[in-house]
Amino acid sequence: TVHEQTKSLVEKDRENIWHHISAYNEKNPPMVIEKGEGAWITDHKGDRYLDGMAGLWAVNVGYGREEMAQAAYEQMKKLAYVPMTQSHGPAIELAEKINELLGADYKIFYSNSGSDANEVAFKLARQYHQQNGEPSRYKFISRYRAYHGSSMGALAATGQALRKYKYEPLAPGFLHIAPPDNYRRPAGQSVEEYNIQRAQEFEEKIIWEQKETIAGIIMEPLITGGGILIPHPIYVEKVQEICKRHGVLLIIDEVICGFGRTGKMFGHQHFNCKPDIITMAKGLTSAYLPLSITAIRKEIYDKFDTGEDNSHFRHVNTFGGNPAACALALKNIEILEREHLVDRSAELGDRLLKELEVLKDHPYVGDIRGLGFLMGIELVEDKETKEPATNARMAKIIGDCKANGLIVGRNGDTVAGFNNILALSPPLSCTDEDFDFIVAVLKKVFGENE
Ligand code: PMP
Repeated sequence: TVHEQTKSLVEKDRENIWHHISAYNEKNPPMVIEKGEGAWITDHKGDRYLDGMAGLWAVNVGYGREEMAQAAYEQMKKLAYVPMTQSHGPAIELAEKINELLGADYKIFYSNSGSDANEVAFKLARQYHQQNGEPSRYKFISRYRAYHGSSMGALAATGQALRKYKYEPLAPGFLHIAPPDNYRRPAGQSVEEYNIQRAQEFEEKIIWEQKETIAGIIMEPLITGGGILIPHPIYVEKVQEICKRHGVLLIIDEVICGFGRTGKMFGHQHFNCKPDIITMAKGLTSAYLPLSITAIRKEIYDKFDTGEDNSHFRHVNTFGGNPAACALALKNIEILEREHLVDRSAELGDRLLKELEVLKDHPYVGDIRGLGFLMGIELVEDKETKEPATNARMAKIIGDCKANGLIVGRNGDTVAGFNNILALSPPLSCTDEDFDFIVAVLKKVFGENE
């Protein structure tokens, strides 16, 4: 009808779409985004914004890349689908490429999302222990403040408030420990001592729960969604040592950190760390198409497909390893390498830390931290007590950034009720002008919010 045609997109959105996380908001309706180019997105009204979150920490090579679309198009025309029981060229080539990037011999299992990849990791780990003669190992340890996905197992591993919403019982057997939060460490303790202590708490948990019951720990190289918590390298090294000592598998979630975000191809490469299982999604295709990977270390996969009954991993996944998505992922990695975007991530991140150093004098800026092109700015009401910034202050600053054309994210310790950390993860392909724009907007907004 004519009426239907004249309805605005925003009205139709309100009538028909059920949005993630938050309900439709009359005052601040979701942006209807029409196109993206480089680091910029344009909404249906024609307003442009620099996407300081790269979508959801994902669009690493930037928007609107012709050759990405072309790679998917060519593959779709040639062969759009292959069921998971068969194989195809792009999947094989991509698996080989991932092993080259990891510098090791992993087996690549394909699925569709970060949540999927983590579920695969949990199932694999449990089956591994059974086939390794330790069937009592079924529990997983993860960290408070970490996000690992929204399916029942990944949600159980998640240490944020949404876990404790209205969805219990979640998958049983998931335990939590506190991550190092260096900014809020006890007074008088060095960062190193504090990180060692946090790692010891992991070991205490294993001992208390009885090590014979622990299958693995899942953790990100640094906590992203819970407030950009960057550990001292000793933490990761100790956690790995403890895993080895107690036969616990080390599962590293690279869903956000992978593919250059932290200034190395993978976040765990900052540390002396060889994970047993690695999960990847988002940046694998720069989110142009859904695809995820669970990479499994040799010692684990050797316990599978041994010829004995039921030694095969049983996990059905219709879309996993989709040919177009694999071809696209290969193109994405080619661009990352050709344009040296991993080094660029490290360089831009260092520059951003230096440029924003001056904000440390601002009355509400408690801490600024980053690794690669991933930054957290922790806002407080009081620098002495570190009382987290109020929701009103956070909303004002984020709103002012948006009004000046910059999208920034927000997260924190949602279990404790704090949501006081600004998050920045712009596309790694940001130009110098884009970079200057980010810095200028942040300085302006903080200047106006003294
Ligand atoms: N792990 C981490 C660290 C994530 O940030 C996310 C998504 N934000 C996931 C897993 C889940 O990924 P997906 O949304 O693709 O299921």
